[in-house]
Amino acid sequence: MDEKLALAATILVVDDLQANRMVLERQLERLGHRVVLAEHGLEAIELLHKQQFDLIMLDIMMPVMNGFETLTVLKSDQTLRHIPVVVVSALNDLESIARCITLGAEDFLFKPVERVLLEARVEACLVRKQLHDREVAALAAAEAANKAKGAFVSMVSHELKNPITGIAGYSDMLLNESIGPLNDLQSESVRAIRNLTRLMVSLLGDLSDLTALESGHLRLKLEPWQLHPAVASAVEAVQKLMADKQHSLSVSIPPDLPMVKADGMRLVQILTNLLSNAGKYTQAGGEIRLGARYLDAGLIEVAVSDSGIGIPAGVQARIFEPFFRTVDARTGGEPGTGLGLSITRQLVELQGGQIWFTSAPGEGTTFSFTLPTVSAGAQSVGLDTSVGTRSSGTL
Ligand code: ADP
Repeated sequence: MDEKLALAATILVVDDLQANRMVLERQLERLGHRVVLAEHGLEAIELLHKQQFDLIMLDIMMPVMNGFETLTVLKSDQTLRHIPVVVVSALNDLESIARCITLGAEDFLFKPVERVLLEARVEACLVRKQLHDREVAALAAAEAANKAKGAFVSMVSHELKNPITGIAGYSDMLLNESIGPLNDLQSESVRAIRNLTRLMVSLLGDLSDLTALESGHLRLKLEPWQLHPAVASAVEAVQKLMADKQHSLSVSIPPDLPMVKADGMRLVQILTNLLSNAGKYTQAGGEIRLGARYLDAGLIEVAVSDSGIGIPAGVQARIFEPFFRTVDARTGGEPGTGLGLSITRQLVELQGGQIWFTSAPGEGTTFSFTLPTVSAGAQSVGLDTSVGTRSSGTL
C-alpha cells in the first residue's frame, strides 16, 4: 500500500496500579500517542462509551472489574468489539493470557513492558485497526453510493415514464387512424415507434421495481387470492404474443385449489413474466403450458413449461441475475432487458415462495414457483380442469 498509515493514536491504559499506568503512559506518549488512564474495567467501559479509542492496554488482575470481565463486556458490545486489546500481564501468568486471547484479546505483553516490543505490538495492532476502519468506511461509502444510485434511477424512471407513456398513447392514436389516414410506410414507422416506446415503458417499470426491491421500499399487499383470475389476467396480457407466434397455450388448474396469500398485482406480474418468456423464447408454433397443484406443506406450485430454445447448462446459474440474457435470447431478436426474472424471483420470495427451473437446450424449459396458501392446513386434491387455447389464450 503506497499511502502510509498515520499511527498517532488515542490509547486507553487500564491498570489498578498507578506506577504501572504511569510507566505505560510515558512510553506510549514518547511514541507520539495520546493516552487516557483508567483504574479498572468499569471505568474503562465508561470512558469507551464517551470517546473514541484506537487501542486498549489491559491489565488482568484488577478490583471492581478484572481483565476477563472487561474483555467479555467489550467483545459483546457491537460498538466496542472492533477496538484491539493488548493484555499486559506478569510473565508467570501464561494461563490468564491464553484465556484473554480466547476472549478476543489481540495480543499480549509481559510486565515490565519492554520498550521495543511495546512499540512493535502497538504499531501492529494500530495498523490492523486502521486497515479495518478503512474497510468499514469504504463499505459505508459504497453503500451510500449505491443508495444514491438507486434514488437517481428511481427518480429518472419515474420522470421518464409519463412522457414515454404519452408517446405510446399518441402512436396508438396515429395507428388507429383516429387522427387521419396513414399510408403503409407511415403505418410501419408509427408501429415501430409504438413498439419501441412500449419496450421503454416496460424497461422503466422494471427499473423502478428493481430499485424499490433493492432498497427494500417495495410494498406488497398480501391478501387471499384465487389463482384462476390472476392467471386469466396474465394470459390476456400475453395473448397478442401467443397469437403472433401461433403458440398453443393450455392452462390446467384444479377447480378447488386453495386460495394463495399474495399481492394480486404482483402475482399477475410473476405469471405474465413467465408466460411472456415462454412465448418469447419458443420458436413459432410452440407449446406453452401452465399448470398448478396443491403441495402438502400448505403451498401451491405453479409451473410454466415451453417447448422452446432452452437455457444452456453453462449459464443456468446466472439466469436470475439482473440484466443477464443468454446469447440465444440476444441474437433471437426478442425484446428484453434481462430484468424480468430477477424481479420475479424477488417478488416470489417476498411472498414466502421459491422459484426454480429445469431446462434442456432445444427441448424446452419449465419455470416453477410456490406460494403459501391462505390456510396452510387446507387440503385440496381436485380434479384438473384443462383449458386448452390455441393462440387466443382465453380461459
Ligand atoms: P428478458 O426476457 O427481458 O431478457 P428475463 O430476466 O425475463 O429478461 O430473462 C432473462 C434471460 O433468461 C432471457 O433473456 C433468456 O435468455 C432467459 N430465459 C428466460 N426465460 C426463458 C425461457 N422460458 N426459455 C429460454 N430462455 C429463457
